[in-house]
Amino acid sequence: MENYRIYLTEEEIPTHYYNLRADMKVKPAPLVNPGTLKPMTAEELEGVFCKELVQQELDDDTRYFEIPEGIRDYYKIYRPSPLVRAFNLEKALGTPAKIYFKFEGNNTSGSHKLNSAAAQAYYAKQQGLKGITTETGAGQWGTALSMAAAHFGLDCIVYMVKGSYEQKPFRREVMRTYGASVTPSPSDTTQIGRKILEQFPGTTGSLGCAISEAVEAAVTREGYRYVLGSVLNQVLLHQSVIGLEAHKAFEKIGVKPDIIVGCTGGGSNLGGLIAPFMGEKLRGEADYRFVAVEPASCPSLTRGKYMYDFCDTGNVCPLAKMYTLGNGFIPSPIHAGGLRFHGMSTIISELYHQGMMEARAYEQTEVFQAAEIFAKAEGILPAPESGHAIKGAIDIALECKESGEEKVILLGLSGTGYFDLMAYQQYNDGTMTDYIPSDEDLVKAFAFIPPQPEDL
Ligand SMILES: *Cc1c(COP(=O)(O)O)cnc(C)c1O
Repeated sequence: MENYRIYLTEEEIPTHYYNLRADMKVKPAPLVNPGTLKPMTAEELEGVFCKELVQQELDDDTRYFEIPEGIRDYYKIYRPSPLVRAFNLEKALGTPAKIYFKFEGNNTSGSHKLNSAAAQAYYAKQQGLKGITTETGAGQWGTALSMAAAHFGLDCIVYMVKGSYEQKPFRREVMRTYGASVTPSPSDTTQIGRKILEQFPGTTGSLGCAISEAVEAAVTREGYRYVLGSVLNQVLLHQSVIGLEAHKAFEKIGVKPDIIVGCTGGGSNLGGLIAPFMGEKLRGEADYRFVAVEPASCPSLTRGKYMYDFCDTGNVCPLAKMYTLGNGFIPSPIHAGGLRFHGMSTIISELYHQGMMEARAYEQTEVFQAAEIFAKAEGILPAPESGHAIKGAIDIALECKESGEEKVILLGLSGTGYFDLMAYQQYNDGTMTDYIPSDEDLVKAFAFIPPQPEDL
């Protein structure tokens, strides 16, 4: 019988990031300056982001970027991440499908986000910067960045969505232990924060709003830059290590996945997981089915519009062409399952628009039911975000049972659920409810989408 775990050695950690854009015939739309309505130039972006990361952001053509030794050495403390055959889940479902999962939760931050945090902190240090600022929603990105900043010797300022800051004090303490300063957002420490507080008193905040504050904090401080944990091209580039490792592990056992499933908030873990496989599909070398899973409460791919929109509520960030619910969309506070961003990576958006991948949306109660099945079968308590991917994979495996097809499913298990026990408590108490925005709600949020730049 095949082994449960397919091991890679330390030497098999990828030496290069793979840039999926190089193989896309129609490239993702460029970021646009909301003032000039022209594509953002490197010079404009360098006021906010590190130089090297701006190069990566704008480069649609270079297929491989070498991973510097400093980053690879850091990866060695938690990579390669395991690829596991989910024998017990297959048995529990009675499916002929073969399910494999790639688990990214094996580090203190508990998710894949450390892959990009390490890269971004490394390049900031190389540039001689003093510190970095960022936002965090549930806290995973802030935690990952605090760890990376501590390792590479940078100051780290985190704006944490107020609702999470109050509900998830433990995340906050991990960040503080790694030396980060954590401020609940919206706050009175920035101009935009004060404006939002005035406009929406008592708000529990949103990711879009925290982004605006973190950007302001970076551009008003000497020697600081802003870093972002998802959505951007550079983040998907760094996350390609997930897919590259999975690809190599499958090669070792002579198996090819048929269907690759992941959850999407901003699109980085899914974008990284699918990267080398999608590259093969784009080059016509192989075929795969790709399935993005999102929450029904924040359904950017399945119900959003493919348009230019701001990445943040405060409208200080560039415009990105993406599937969006409108930058004023604030997901229901009863939604416990993460993945609360109104937009989506431009790479994932363009691929979805081209029909290269599918998307499904699920409600949170059914997601937690799937997470429970997975936890019992495979022994890992999944992050609620990952629960969406699990729900998608379970449904596909059950479809295989119906049709008798022995498909190979690769499931992206982006993180652990240890920091989401409040959500599990609601689920276990039976107090978890589902919320799906009405068409009317969406029309209201779409009204926030600005006039579209022409000829882009
Ligand atoms: C942040 C996060 C996500 C969603 O972000 P993406 O950029 O879409 O990957 C998914 N799972 C976990 C565990 C996360 O922490």
